[in-house]
Amino acid sequence: MISIEQARKAILNKIKPLPSEKLFLDQSLGRYLAQDVYSERNIPPWDNSAMDGFAVHTEDLAAGEGRLGIAYEIPAGALPQGPFEKGTAVKIMTGAPVPPGADAVVKREDTDEREGEVIVRKTPAPGENIRASGEDLRAGELVLQAGIRLAPAQLGLLASIRQVMVPCSQRPVVAIIATGDEVADFDEELTENKISSSNSYTLKALVEEAGAIPLYLGVARDTREDLADKFSRASRADLILTSGGVSMGDYDIVREVMTEGGNVMEFWKVNIKPGRPLAFGTISGIPAIGLPGNPLSTMTSFYQFARPAILKFLGARELLLPRLKAGLSCPVKGSTDRPHYMSGILTRDGEGFSVSPAGPQGSGILSTLSRANCYMIIPPEGKPLEKGRLVECEIFNPAW
Ligand code: AMP
Ligand code: MG
Repeated sequence: MISIEQARKAILNKIKPLPSEKLFLDQSLGRYLAQDVYSERNIPPWDNSAMDGFAVHTEDLAAGEGRLGIAYEIPAGALPQGPFEKGTAVKIMTGAPVPPGADAVVKREDTDEREGEVIVRKTPAPGENIRASGEDLRAGELVLQAGIRLAPAQLGLLASIRQVMVPCSQRPVVAIIATGDEVADFDEELTENKISSSNSYTLKALVEEAGAIPLYLGVARDTREDLADKFSRASRADLILTSGGVSMGDYDIVREVMTEGGNVMEFWKVNIKPGRPLAFGTISGIPAIGLPGNPLSTMTSFYQFARPAILKFLGARELLLPRLKAGLSCPVKGSTDRPHYMSGILTRDGEGFSVSPAGPQGSGILSTLSRANCYMIIPPEGKPLEKGRLVECEIFNPAW
């Protein structure tokens, strides 16, 4: 059976980053930058004052203090009137351009101002309270690298260099098909032989959260015809996700349809718990991931295999969930044959982190995953793990 890494590699091999589109800056939050962005100007554009106070020639204050005439003032938004004479100072506001010749700004708190004069009580060091032109960004400097996800700080940076239109990667369309004769979406009555299709809603949300556009095609009955019909409606998608129908049961027809006609099945089964019966192939040339149907398996396999695929379409620099090591806050049952991705609760613990299972780990128990913020990865050592042992955790919900 192939490993998680081999399976992910095989899937990613079939995915090519999508072209870019230009978006208005204020529509680009959460999108992936498609090109490197350089600054055409220095930010800040001029040397400016870090304080409200007085721009001075420090040599006038060699005695450690002094009395200076006020030559003029520079309110916010104004430009300096020009050089100012020896023995004078210029009243200046935070952010205003420093007048030519000034080599420091005395902060207002260190002065007394009266009748056109300022008494300086403390001489600043040369350069003090002056922010240099270009200290944030220099003209020609790389501002942001292609493949980063645009968050508030990046939008502000783009605004500061006047980048009104932002090159972003196009969002992939991800078709979602639930399967199962026992599965009912909201458009179908929940008769006593049915369960509600929770996977339809977790998958739509996961796809959207990863930055793609979900194309939800409903629940296919467990017949080849119905499933093939749903696949035919996915012809505009960049990626197809199905849930269920990939195990050993008589009605598990996803794999069957994956091998019909021009469809290809690349692999079936991955060495992971939960979510072993993962299938991957192409349906009419479109990459298709057959996710197992048990709700915990569906989500876990999504994070391991479908999310990286979506992020590759988006040109993202980092395809995997962030990892950190945390100490077990209780002993944990070991895993024998496969790495066990347990639903865990990660918490701050002094200088580090500790983690514990979020509840019973049965692959149908979605309430456990709903309490979790991470996967705790239990290596297949065949023996229990003691309290305090460090384990790798993958964080899927940093907003816990
Ligand atoms: P299967 O692999 O199709 O046998 O599905 C495995 C398990 O997942 C079964 O218990 C199904 O009832 C359940 N299941 C399949 N699809 C869904 C779904 N869309 N929502 C919730 N549970 C599902
Ligand atoms: Mg089924």
